[in-house]
Amino acid sequence: MRDFSEDHRWLSINTATVRKSRGVDLPLPEIIDACARRGIRAISPWRDQVAAAGLDTISAQVKAHGLELSGYCRGGMFPAVDAGGLAAARDDNRRAVDEARELDAKCLVLVVGGLPGALAGKAAHKDIARSRAQVRDGIAELLDYSRTVRMPLAIEPLHPMYAADRACVNTMEQALDICDELDPGRSGALGVAVDVYHVWWDPKLQQQIARAGRDRLLAFHVCDWLTPTADLLNDRGMMGDGVIDIPRIRGWMEAQGFAGYSEVEIFSTANWWRRDHGEVLDTCIQRHQAVV
Ligand code: ZN
Repeated sequence: MRDFSEDHRWLSINTATVRKSRGVDLPLPEIIDACARRGIRAISPWRDQVAAAGLDTISAQVKAHGLELSGYCRGGMFPAVDAGGLAAARDDNRRAVDEARELDAKCLVLVVGGLPGALAGKAAHKDIARSRAQVRDGIAELLDYSRTVRMPLAIEPLHPMYAADRACVNTMEQALDICDELDPGRSGALGVAVDVYHVWWDPKLQQQIARAGRDRLLAFHVCDWLTPTADLLNDRGMMGDGVIDIPRIRGWMEAQGFAGYSEVEIFSTANWWRRDHGEVLDTCIQRHQAVV
């Protein structure tokens, strides 16, 4: 297993982690500069942040700093109630692939969606099997496109508490079943993003990481699970402040040959987003070296 204690060369910052500084929105160019100043070598930005600053601006800035993208957040949200909705999702996902390509991301992360309308507060139906079928079909269609521009797709299984509104793919096993079906040749075009927040509890986690193997382990997201958790979405903990045995999981990843970045992804309305982003980034570096 790689020794992280000496430096932070394998640290990536998911830019949602410093989306706000002292409670105020922080523009992506400032986030990028703050990361580069600290010798952070990789980031994973969100589409809305990139759109606000302009894709060309961000692309040039990332290249000027020599930063890598451990991923691009995010595509997905495939389910819809009708053909028009499915087509809109398809087109938007193709644009996400194109943006990821322009930014030279390692992968496009897919949060696949749940019941249509649930994210806005009213689910259009209760048929989660139908959503899962649309997710499968949506990924299959997107894969045809993403292969042509060589942008790997990383399915991110989300904790089951998000099954209705964000992702009806909830375990590594489920995600890997889709990979096996759609990319049986293990081409590298389709894999998984392993986010410890979502999968740490899974009794099959070690087994499924081994099943994934190096070809399908495309990203590794870290934060911590706080007890109690005050908010289902925006109360993620800093590594070391919760109950997840992060080094153990990283060890399982690396036993398969994973040698990518550990990407810190923290959504924290009540704590980290209220602090100064410089303090947050410095803490990420310290914890990356000490407890990841
Ligand atoms: Zn994640």
